[in-house]
Amino acid sequence: MSRKPLPGWKSLSLGGSIVEPGNSVQRPTGDWRVYKPIINQEKCVRCLLCWVYCPDMSIYIIDKPYRTSMGREWKFSVEVDYNFCKGCGICVEECPVKAIDFIEEVK
Ligand code: SF4
Ligand code: SF4
Repeated sequence: MSRKPLPGWKSLSLGGSIVEPGNSVQRPTGDWRVYKPIINQEKCVRCLLCWVYCPDMSIYIIDKPYRTSMGREWKFSVEVDYNFCKGCGICVEECPVKAIDFIEEVK
């Protein structure tokens, strides 16, 4: 991923205050990740606890139906936004059915 050079400290706002709320969407943080969560759609029970606990709002729902090998039909899938997921592992810890694998990131 190519990046623009970061601004120098002189361009920071006084006290480091945030003067443009919501600007984190312009700053992808996914390349900080050392470990990567991968949701196993087969095991996932769509409880969305990972969405509740993720500190980076990196869990999202997609309109993609999934049918398990046991024949259960889900109307949506749960995915990770790797542009922003920092790999903290909280979702992995909180998933009640251990449906999230945590593997070493390969860059
Ligand atoms: S916490 Fe686990 S089971 Fe619940 S939606 Fe997330 S991945 Fe699926
Ligand atoms: S590893 Fe952390 S940042 Fe990434 S999706 Fe899970 S809770 Fe969110």
